Amino acid sequence: MTSRSAPRIAVIGAGPAGLVCARVLQLHGIEVTVYESDTAAGFRERGGIVDLHADLGQRALREAGLTAELHAAASPSEPGRRMFTPQGELVVDDEFDEPDESAPSVIGRDRLHALLAASLEPGTVRWGHRLLSATPDGDGTHRLEFDDGSAAETDLVIGADGAWSTVRPLVRAAIPVHSGVTFFEAWFHDVDRDHPAVAELVGSGRMFATGDGKGLIGRRDGEHIRARIVLSEEPGRRRTAGIAPAGTAAVRAELLKRFTGYHERLRVLITDNDGPYVHRPVYVLPQPHTWPRTPGVTLLGDAAHLGSPFRGDGTGHAMLDGAELARRLARPDDLGRAVAVYETAMRARRARNHAGGATPARIFRRTSRDRSVLTDFDTAGYDLGRHGSGFRTVQVNRTRPPVVEHNGGRGTPAAGVR
Ligand SMILES: Cc1cc2nc3c(=O)[nH]c(=O)nc-3n(C[C@H](O)[C@H](O)[C@H](O)COP(=O)(O)OP(=O)(O)OC[C@H]3O[C@@H](n4cnc5c(N)ncnc54)[C@H](O)[C@@H]3O)c2cc1C
Repeated sequence: MTSRSAPRIAVIGAGPAGLVCARVLQLHGIEVTVYESDTAAGFRERGGIVDLHADLGQRALREAGLTAELHAAASPSEPGRRMFTPQGELVVDDEFDEPDESAPSVIGRDRLHALLAASLEPGTVRWGHRLLSATPDGDGTHRLEFDDGSAAETDLVIGADGAWSTVRPLVRAAIPVHSGVTFFEAWFHDVDRDHPAVAELVGSGRMFATGDGKGLIGRRDGEHIRARIVLSEEPGRRRTAGIAPAGTAAVRAELLKRFTGYHERLRVLITDNDGPYVHRPVYVLPQPHTWPRTPGVTLLGDAAHLGSPFRGDGTGHAMLDGAELARRLARPDDLGRAVAVYETAMRARRARNHAGGATPARIFRRTSRDRSVLTDFDTAGYDLGRHGSGFRTVQVNRTRPPVVEHNGGRGTPAAGVR
């Protein structure tokens, strides 16, 4: 790697990992350029919400000097959780006993992205620059070529370009494989007003029902609820789960066929949502994912360790990767050594957080009457279980009284919603 007083650092990808990395570098007075294929911030909806945990995303934002901005934009997570059998019997109904200081902050992905992008010096992100290739020059530097015909030379190229990273092949790393799990995601807007049965079903936080290789997950986000309809098969099989990408009505009809054995009180997550369905096949890299130290290049976030979304912490890890690499690069006597130290620490953190997690496909194979499913969710770290140990089970093995019927009436408050 060329030794120079001001190394040329290029970050590929303006997702959470790349933006935090650039922000922390700039806080330390280090020049950086971010290349992003989207043509502008807010160019597309990033969609949904994420939990930022104290030890991951919140820590990264602290290092980025953005804690006040996070507090202004985020809200505390609602921690209730419910588990139903496919037959609609409520078997776990947990509420959190007391305020939980370790509870994550919830923030919309779009707001998080806007907050991070706005924190950078103007001109840092070169929007509309899709990296086509990165070619080693043999001395640790790389030549980057973009789809608009432009090119750049770098001393360090940081691949923060997500699951399908163009930078990753430079370190001869693995490629993602389909985990066997496919999500069909849809939203209920103004749920207390328009969908009281769904509001009651999901409660204050999250609910799920699993069994027979399928699952239904509902998660409250203020006035809205996100439903994830989950189909699982053997890893590597059919990324579409055999459901053709079609209009909302066609996807809904096919999903209803697949969930024939599920109780009507649960199937409202399929029948009543506001659509459209967003199809999200879940890909993962083999874990742990390692690569040989490669001069002049490293990876952050999903490019480095694309893992199961059931942990609900991919964004937090990506942000912390960015912050920690940048902090180490702040003493740039030896870029190669700084990168090596970052990579070792990042892998150790991932291994600590991911020890003992169940695979996504395993979670959905068993019915939620089997309480070990809950343990799997917890050990997999899915956001149902990362609030610490203060859950209080207020109802177990008891069929909840029938949920309030969806009468379509506007302005009708949801019975029992806390
Ligand atoms: C279905 C699903 C649900 C999830 N749910 C959660 C959740 O609840 N909580 C959570 O924390 N995480 C969740 N995740 C994971 C989370 O989305 C990722 O871990 C996180 O976005 C990783 O951030 P990143 O910056 O590494 O990559 P990304 O967010 O993917 O950002 C990569 C950026 O690089 C850009 N890019 C790509 N290729 C190029 C190129 N060649 N040239 C230039 N730019 C390029 C992209 O446009 C993008 O802006 C979920 C993921 C999935 C698939």
